[in-house]
Amino acid sequence: MASSKEGTPRVLVALDCDHTIIDGNSDTWIMALLPDHMVPKEIKKRFKKEHNSWTIYMGEIFEYMHSIGIGEAALHDSIAGIPLTPGMKELFEYQASCPQLDFIVISDSNSYFIDVILGSQGFQKGVNKIYTNQAEFNADGCLKIHFSNPHTCPRKCPKNLCKQTSLRGFLEEQRSKDIEYDRVCMVGDGQNDFCPCFCLKEQDYVFPRKGYSLVKLLQERKERQSSDDGDDIIATAKPWDSATEILNVVKGFFDS
Ligand SMILES: [Mg+2]
Ligand SMILES: [Zn+2]
Repeated sequence: MASSKEGTPRVLVALDCDHTIIDGNSDTWIMALLPDHMVPKEIKKRFKKEHNSWTIYMGEIFEYMHSIGIGEAALHDSIAGIPLTPGMKELFEYQASCPQLDFIVISDSNSYFIDVILGSQGFQKGVNKIYTNQAEFNADGCLKIHFSNPHTCPRKCPKNLCKQTSLRGFLEEQRSKDIEYDRVCMVGDGQNDFCPCFCLKEQDYVFPRKGYSLVKLLQERKERQSSDDGDDIIATAKPWDSATEILNVVKGFFDS
């Protein structure tokens, strides 16, 4: 293919974070820091009845945490303590040894959590770009989270992030630097990892984590596809339990 230099393909792996890189949900993980692990009723009520935005909900929880003295150190230690999914460390180690293999992270969590997760594992250097909600501590020490990825996706993507828009944006950015990928892999677990699967090509792969909703969404789509025309998912789907299964497929791209 066009981008192959001396026969070595160029491969992109786009990873979700929660339940994909880490074996848990970072947003719900930190709830263990709250008194009795409980989100105050008023915050829950506003989420259900007023804004219905997870990003706003988390912003209000960070404000509440700040008001009761849960600061950066506690958040950092909680997030850094979330275990990785099986085989994920080996996948990142392989990436570090493979110059033709690029990783990006696309996650509806926030930049602070992702920096802590990648930083505590020594994975940061291997990640080319992170698409997420930008977050930083203000002068008072409260974590502030922002809507950072506006999009016009017609699917059911949350208003602050469409992973297909982000993935396409990255591919476009790389193309402008003359970097074209022979294969693109999407690794995820949830509903918002479904939309990017529609922009993958025939030679591409989607790795949905077994036991999570993306597997089912892909399966349902496949069953409908034969009778439906138009918008199909044509990439190969390979459900995984351990990221070593992803690693074996990725290694195969470079061996053949
Ligand atoms: Mg996830
Ligand atoms: Zn979308």
